[in-house]
Amino acid sequence: MDRRTLLSLLPAPLMATGPLTEPLRAGAAQLIGAALTDQQGWARLEYLCDRIGARLAGSKTLEQAIEWCAAEMRRDGFSGVETPQVMVPHWVRGEESAELLAPVAAPLRMLGLGGSIATPPEGITAEVVAVESFDELDALPASRVRGRIVLFNAPWRGYGPTVAYRSNGASRAARLGAVAALVRSVTPHSLATPHTGAMRYDAAQPKIPAAALAVEDAGRIARLSKAGVPVRLRLRMQAQTLPDSPSANVIANLPGREKPEEIVVLGGHIDSWDVGTGAHDDGTGCIACWQAVVLMKKLNLIPRRTVRVVLWTNEENGLRGAEAYRQWAGETVKNHVAAIEMDGGAERPLGFGLSALTAGQPVQERAVAQAQQIGALLAGIGAHQVTSGGGGADIGPLMREGVPGLGLRTTGEKYFHWHHTHADTLDHVDPEHFRLCIATAAVMAWGLAEMEPRLGS
Ligand SMILES: [Zn+2]
Repeated sequence: MDRRTLLSLLPAPLMATGPLTEPLRAGAAQLIGAALTDQQGWARLEYLCDRIGARLAGSKTLEQAIEWCAAEMRRDGFSGVETPQVMVPHWVRGEESAELLAPVAAPLRMLGLGGSIATPPEGITAEVVAVESFDELDALPASRVRGRIVLFNAPWRGYGPTVAYRSNGASRAARLGAVAALVRSVTPHSLATPHTGAMRYDAAQPKIPAAALAVEDAGRIARLSKAGVPVRLRLRMQAQTLPDSPSANVIANLPGREKPEEIVVLGGHIDSWDVGTGAHDDGTGCIACWQAVVLMKKLNLIPRRTVRVVLWTNEENGLRGAEAYRQWAGETVKNHVAAIEMDGGAERPLGFGLSALTAGQPVQERAVAQAQQIGALLAGIGAHQVTSGGGGADIGPLMREGVPGLGLRTTGEKYFHWHHTHADTLDHVDPEHFRLCIATAAVMAWGLAEMEPRLGS
């Protein structure tokens, strides 16, 4: 679909225009125009995905990505490009496999969960007990669980409720004497693609290996179990946690022309899982935010306040970058006017969710009303919705200090098709949607940095 067709299909916008909207209109139109014809952002995303690839904390490729981003930002002419060190967890997947042994022999599509321990070298061979929930597990007699592999075949109920099985399943199963835990991949849609992600051990329970199965394989095992057919499988994992490893956040500034000490920060996380190439999660977020500021520079739209790009490290399995940025900012955290995070993939953008609740209800209401007036400038591309409630993991430490946080929202139709899988590659990023995300990030960040009042005041 070409751009004109796309725009003509968008619904008539409900705009919350106001006194802030008009003075920003010309600059916003320039930014949108530049973003929709931008080539450099896509070229950088392609480089990051194809020439660097997966970027798990502790990996050489993550450090290569950080160096490349910082070097490119210097070439862009950003000032104060810094890569302050952050120590990150270093988990390594190693070889891994799972196979059904009975009632038939068949390979299973699996991915070990980040943070898991290994199995013994010969693997763990055991009968499987399949449950759909923690309640169902806890209702079983201990004799049904001890020495078995527990499969949590929890149906998708949205990310938050379903991911609890991935995060806590191993320790919940270990408490009852299980020898390993498997979880159905956390996704509403599957083409036999297993989804990895972080898990954590409860220090009070024995540690057992944990892996995700593709939805189809989990379903097959659960159906067999339900039919009373004993299911045996073998799980082999070589995963290990090495000592913490040095990594870094990437920070670059476009200094403000009137109030350089006041900062609007925007960015995504530069790390990814070790499968796929971290395209949607979160290559698109990093590069769309970065390119948004490149366009301000190219158009000589230098706002009143400083706009800062931050690429946080280790969002996926530690959030160490987010905490380190907060520490690095020190006292200047009070000068952070707003923090924008993009970490939901680059589908067609709808706008932003905004939360400033730790700063108090009046600030929240004023901030949403002001951001809606900036959002109105994105009506032409359908990205004008600013709703109350939002933020992101990497800006969490800033938001807890009262900094208003905005999370870019998209249609989110396919995000969990690729999330944490081998399929999170450039092939699944729509260049048109990616450019719309650059435009959306650019207009909001520039508007917040340029508008006369400070957000929320
Ligand atoms: Zn992410």
